[in-house]
Amino acid sequence: MIRLPSREDSGSSPATDAARQQCIRPACGATYELKSVHQRCEKCGALLDVAYDWERLPVPARLALFDERRASSRNPLDYSGVWRFRELIPFAELDKVLTIGEGQTQLRRTDGVAAYVGLDPGRLFLQYEGLNPSGSFKDNGMTGAFTHANMVGAKYAACASTGNTSASLALFAGVSGLLKAVVFVGSGKIAYGKLSQALDYGATTLQIAGDFDDAMRQVQEVCLQTNLYLMNSLNPFRLEGQKAIMYRVLEGLGWEPPDWIVVPGGNLGNSSAFGKAFAELRQLGLIPRIPRVAIINSTGADTLDRLVNRAGLRWNGGNVGDAAIEAFYAQMDAEKRKAHTIASAIEINRPVNLDKALRTLEVTNGVVRAVPDAAILDAKAMVGAHGFGCEPASAASVAGARLLREQGVIARDERVVCILTGHLLKDPHATVGYHSYDAERLREEFGQFGVAQARHANRPIPVPDDIEAILSIIKDL
Ligand SMILES: *Cc1c(COP(=O)(O)O)cnc(C)c1O
Ligand SMILES: [Zn+2]
Repeated sequence: MIRLPSREDSGSSPATDAARQQCIRPACGATYELKSVHQRCEKCGALLDVAYDWERLPVPARLALFDERRASSRNPLDYSGVWRFRELIPFAELDKVLTIGEGQTQLRRTDGVAAYVGLDPGRLFLQYEGLNPSGSFKDNGMTGAFTHANMVGAKYAACASTGNTSASLALFAGVSGLLKAVVFVGSGKIAYGKLSQALDYGATTLQIAGDFDDAMRQVQEVCLQTNLYLMNSLNPFRLEGQKAIMYRVLEGLGWEPPDWIVVPGGNLGNSSAFGKAFAELRQLGLIPRIPRVAIINSTGADTLDRLVNRAGLRWNGGNVGDAAIEAFYAQMDAEKRKAHTIASAIEINRPVNLDKALRTLEVTNGVVRAVPDAAILDAKAMVGAHGFGCEPASAASVAGARLLREQGVIARDERVVCILTGHLLKDPHATVGYHSYDAERLREEFGQFGVAQARHANRPIPVPDDIEAILSIIKDL
């Protein structure tokens, strides 16, 4: 763990009575002390936010004032791509911050992928979160949740995970020594890159005989019955950290908001955090307008797409229509419909942050789409071929942007940022299979996901151990 310098070097902690936890439903609005632990609102069961009295907090007058802290500082708080924006995440007691240098990520302009998506040159940017210490954006949130866990003195923490949350939790627990980590994963689903991290970083790893949705249900119950601190994105302090992804996107664009943010949707924590980030920035007068957020499901795990685009669900001032949601899940159970997609990080049918994602759609005039796995893997190969690689779920953002272009929802001269949520090496099986399987093996292993063809496969070429044979192949390059 990076130990922090003295408080004087880091700036003073905000008055913690200017921050609290608050029920997201305006009709309830119950509040809870900052340094207390709740999974949900104790009064009505809704999700909780971290809420601030901004007028009592020192907020910079312009976002450009953050520029001078970028990347060069020896102060660990400034080195972090999350905590250098600490005035916008002002719940933390600065001597309790746990940082491992998360968020040192990049926004890259990529004209090759822009052409694939159908955008003009200079209009598409990839926010590459695979550069985080554990290889996914989850580290942005984990530093927030660990900081709160440190503030309340938690000794044990748990999460359910499709893989990346467990990798991040295990890494933060291992490097800080602050607490012991227990991770719940579904059986047989988790990508090897991610499982290897949880095991190697020393987390107690429970493989539940079920899928992610089962593991998520169990971990919530276990945390209620024990003193395990819940590290899933249900935890509002995770989402506070993930707001910083949007601050970095704005920073990468010289503080000029793009027209679109496109993000894969799984448990919907990221999209929820993005909406809160933009709502707060506008409230503080720090941005002139809010980008539209497009949330992209896989068609094999498309609860949000169905609820928004078929059932017409909306935030509706916090009256989201619980009865309609319950009926939807009852039908899903009756049909024994399970999430099923090669994009394992978004293989989730009961997204815990559903309500907050609906709020994001409202605040940002957002849209939801679902894309098939074949389109996800094709888009993934195009991302790889033009620069940074990513894991399948991440490429849903690029496949989604392409679909929205085809539908004319995004115009070709609009500025679009796709979030690449996780590193290529998280799921080598998906990548090697896509590029190297013949038609029969592709059908056997990926056919269950509806992938019949690998349009952008870069096949390995078998060649004899013979110089003439090798030369005869490479001469045609
Ligand atoms: C967790 C994760 C997602 C889904 O994010 P949510 O916040 O759960 O919607 C997408 N891609 C990757 C790589 C992830 O690890
Ligand atoms: Zn409530």
